[in-house]
Amino acid sequence: MPDVEQVFTAGGPLARALPDYAPRRSQRRMATCVADAIAARRSLLVEAGTGTGKTFAYLVPALLSGRRVLVSTGTRTLQDQLFAKDLPLVAAAIGRPARVALLKGRANYLCRHRLLSATAQRSFAGLEGGSLALIERWAAVTVSGDLAEVPELADASAIRGAVTSTRENCLGQRCPEWSRCHVVTARRAANDADIVIVNHHLLLADLALKEDGFGDLLGSADAVILDEAHQLPDLVTQFFGVEWSSRQVEHLLADARAELARQGGDVALTAMLKSVEEALAQTRDHVPARRGANGALRMEWNEAPVAFEAALDALTDRLELLHSGLAEAAADAGLAHCATRAASLAGTLTRVSHAREDEAARSIERDARGFALSMLPFDVAPRFRAIVDARPCAWIFTSATLSVGDDFSHFARRLGLEDAETLRIDSPFDFERQGLLYLPQGMPDPASADYLAAVLGEALPLIEAARGGAFVLFTSHRALARAAELINARPEGPLPYPLLVQGAAPREQLLREFRAHGNAVLLGTASFWEGVDVKGEALRLVVIEKLPFASPEDPLVKARIAHLESTGGNAFRDYQLPEAALALKQGVGRLIRSEEDHGVVAICDPRLVSRGYGRVLRASLPPLTVTREQDESRRFLARHAP
Ligand code: SF4
Repeated sequence: MPDVEQVFTAGGPLARALPDYAPRRSQRRMATCVADAIAARRSLLVEAGTGTGKTFAYLVPALLSGRRVLVSTGTRTLQDQLFAKDLPLVAAAIGRPARVALLKGRANYLCRHRLLSATAQRSFAGLEGGSLALIERWAAVTVSGDLAEVPELADASAIRGAVTSTRENCLGQRCPEWSRCHVVTARRAANDADIVIVNHHLLLADLALKEDGFGDLLGSADAVILDEAHQLPDLVTQFFGVEWSSRQVEHLLADARAELARQGGDVALTAMLKSVEEALAQTRDHVPARRGANGALRMEWNEAPVAFEAALDALTDRLELLHSGLAEAAADAGLAHCATRAASLAGTLTRVSHAREDEAARSIERDARGFALSMLPFDVAPRFRAIVDARPCAWIFTSATLSVGDDFSHFARRLGLEDAETLRIDSPFDFERQGLLYLPQGMPDPASADYLAAVLGEALPLIEAARGGAFVLFTSHRALARAAELINARPEGPLPYPLLVQGAAPREQLLREFRAHGNAVLLGTASFWEGVDVKGEALRLVVIEKLPFASPEDPLVKARIAHLESTGGNAFRDYQLPEAALALKQGVGRLIRSEEDHGVVAICDPRLVSRGYGRVLRASLPPLTVTREQDESRRFLARHAP
């Protein structure tokens, strides 16, 4: 068996197995540090610049360790890629076959109990008969229960919710289908595997004990490797937060009615369900329909009228009554579980509506179908740290963006990992030669009315010089929509390149089209700033409209700022600036994805140069050659345009 260092040498197993493999000292260094951390069960934060080859740098030591390792990724796409491509390739190259399991969230697996309920009340639930029949036929033969085996089933099909479970409606070990349950089977397979590939959502659901009844994924893991770890602080905050929505109550009412229908009905309970429904409608009527700065119908808790809180209390009382009624009448697991859900919804409602001001940010959001309440804790570090301390395994966090400048303290502080070892691996790319960072001169104040037009005034000549192949990244949906309007209304006619606008099609489809065209222009907001990998000539220009500061109008951001200030912190220095630095680094990182890539990043926001804090932001960016001249940028683009 080779050792970690050997695997990455010029004549080593990877070089022999992969014709394009180029040995890199930085990759070898990361792999050695990961191996040491696994062996010593230490916590390690690794920032690995683009092109390091960090996936192999953690997979090789994970496989060679012979230990049980959990690998968690930020996206399903990366999860699938690790399972289907990278892991088999690395395992074969180093001659270390391993039992590998891919574990998805429960929404991907058929729930046999709910399928039986859906079948029993086919007409009542208004389900698409054809899709249900399709699922029934497939359910009779499937082994894995993974709905990906039914490609005819659209992602948005309503039937998915009816035949999959949620934590709330799963009956757990009381379920009559427990012994045949696909979720249970998948988790058992994961428990028997050497390497388990999960995603952050699933892992955090486990860590936050929101997946009870299925055992602990982490129970016997020797190491946990978290890729795209920059997403974790926000995800952890969400997982330790509380979300309550009117839709959960509607689902409970529908499930309780279905259970009652199965049992022949009950007049008193039917009246209780009706009474909860009425209280829910009255509460919804008190949510003001006022649009916030971000375009959503979202507001801070203290902006809600007094009548809203009173209606919430009344709704809580009715849910508690429903819980008592269902618990008394429960003859089987189905109704008993509905009773538990009613109690849980009432409990969560009380927790949110009576939370302390200094504990969490609370907000109310309204949409066409109902309303949702959320409560996000201000500080999750002690709880996350307690989870890490409770599991004596190696914790390895890696991403291309964990540090601000050379400093990991912002990321580490948010998760309580201040004493973790840190390692920063620079990208092997020759940024100075491969790219330009263009900072336009004379841009107006980003708050001024003519700012967006000025951004387009810079972007369009660059797009022309590059002959398309551009991302234009915005910080708000409003700016994106307005920019699309302005571009389409140009007096000189439409752009001579395919224009792809976020929202017009699903993200993955837009990216596929962008790659296929080779000269497209894509307008995107937050979801295109990160996790997008377009190698080669298709992407040669990235234009950034504004510095990505979180909107202070967002009620949750506003509440966090207020909390930091009230506890003696400096919200700008300790929260807004480092968050913006990491987000900007992500956005700029879209451009150079391989040694062959060339291109220009234009950051139009003048504050990057004019404000003192611009230094902190610039220090986090890759070392591209800086220019303030549009002509130089256009010449560079023209030279590298296909
Ligand atoms: S245990 Fe839960 S997920 Fe499994 S079949 Fe029963 S209700 Fe569905």
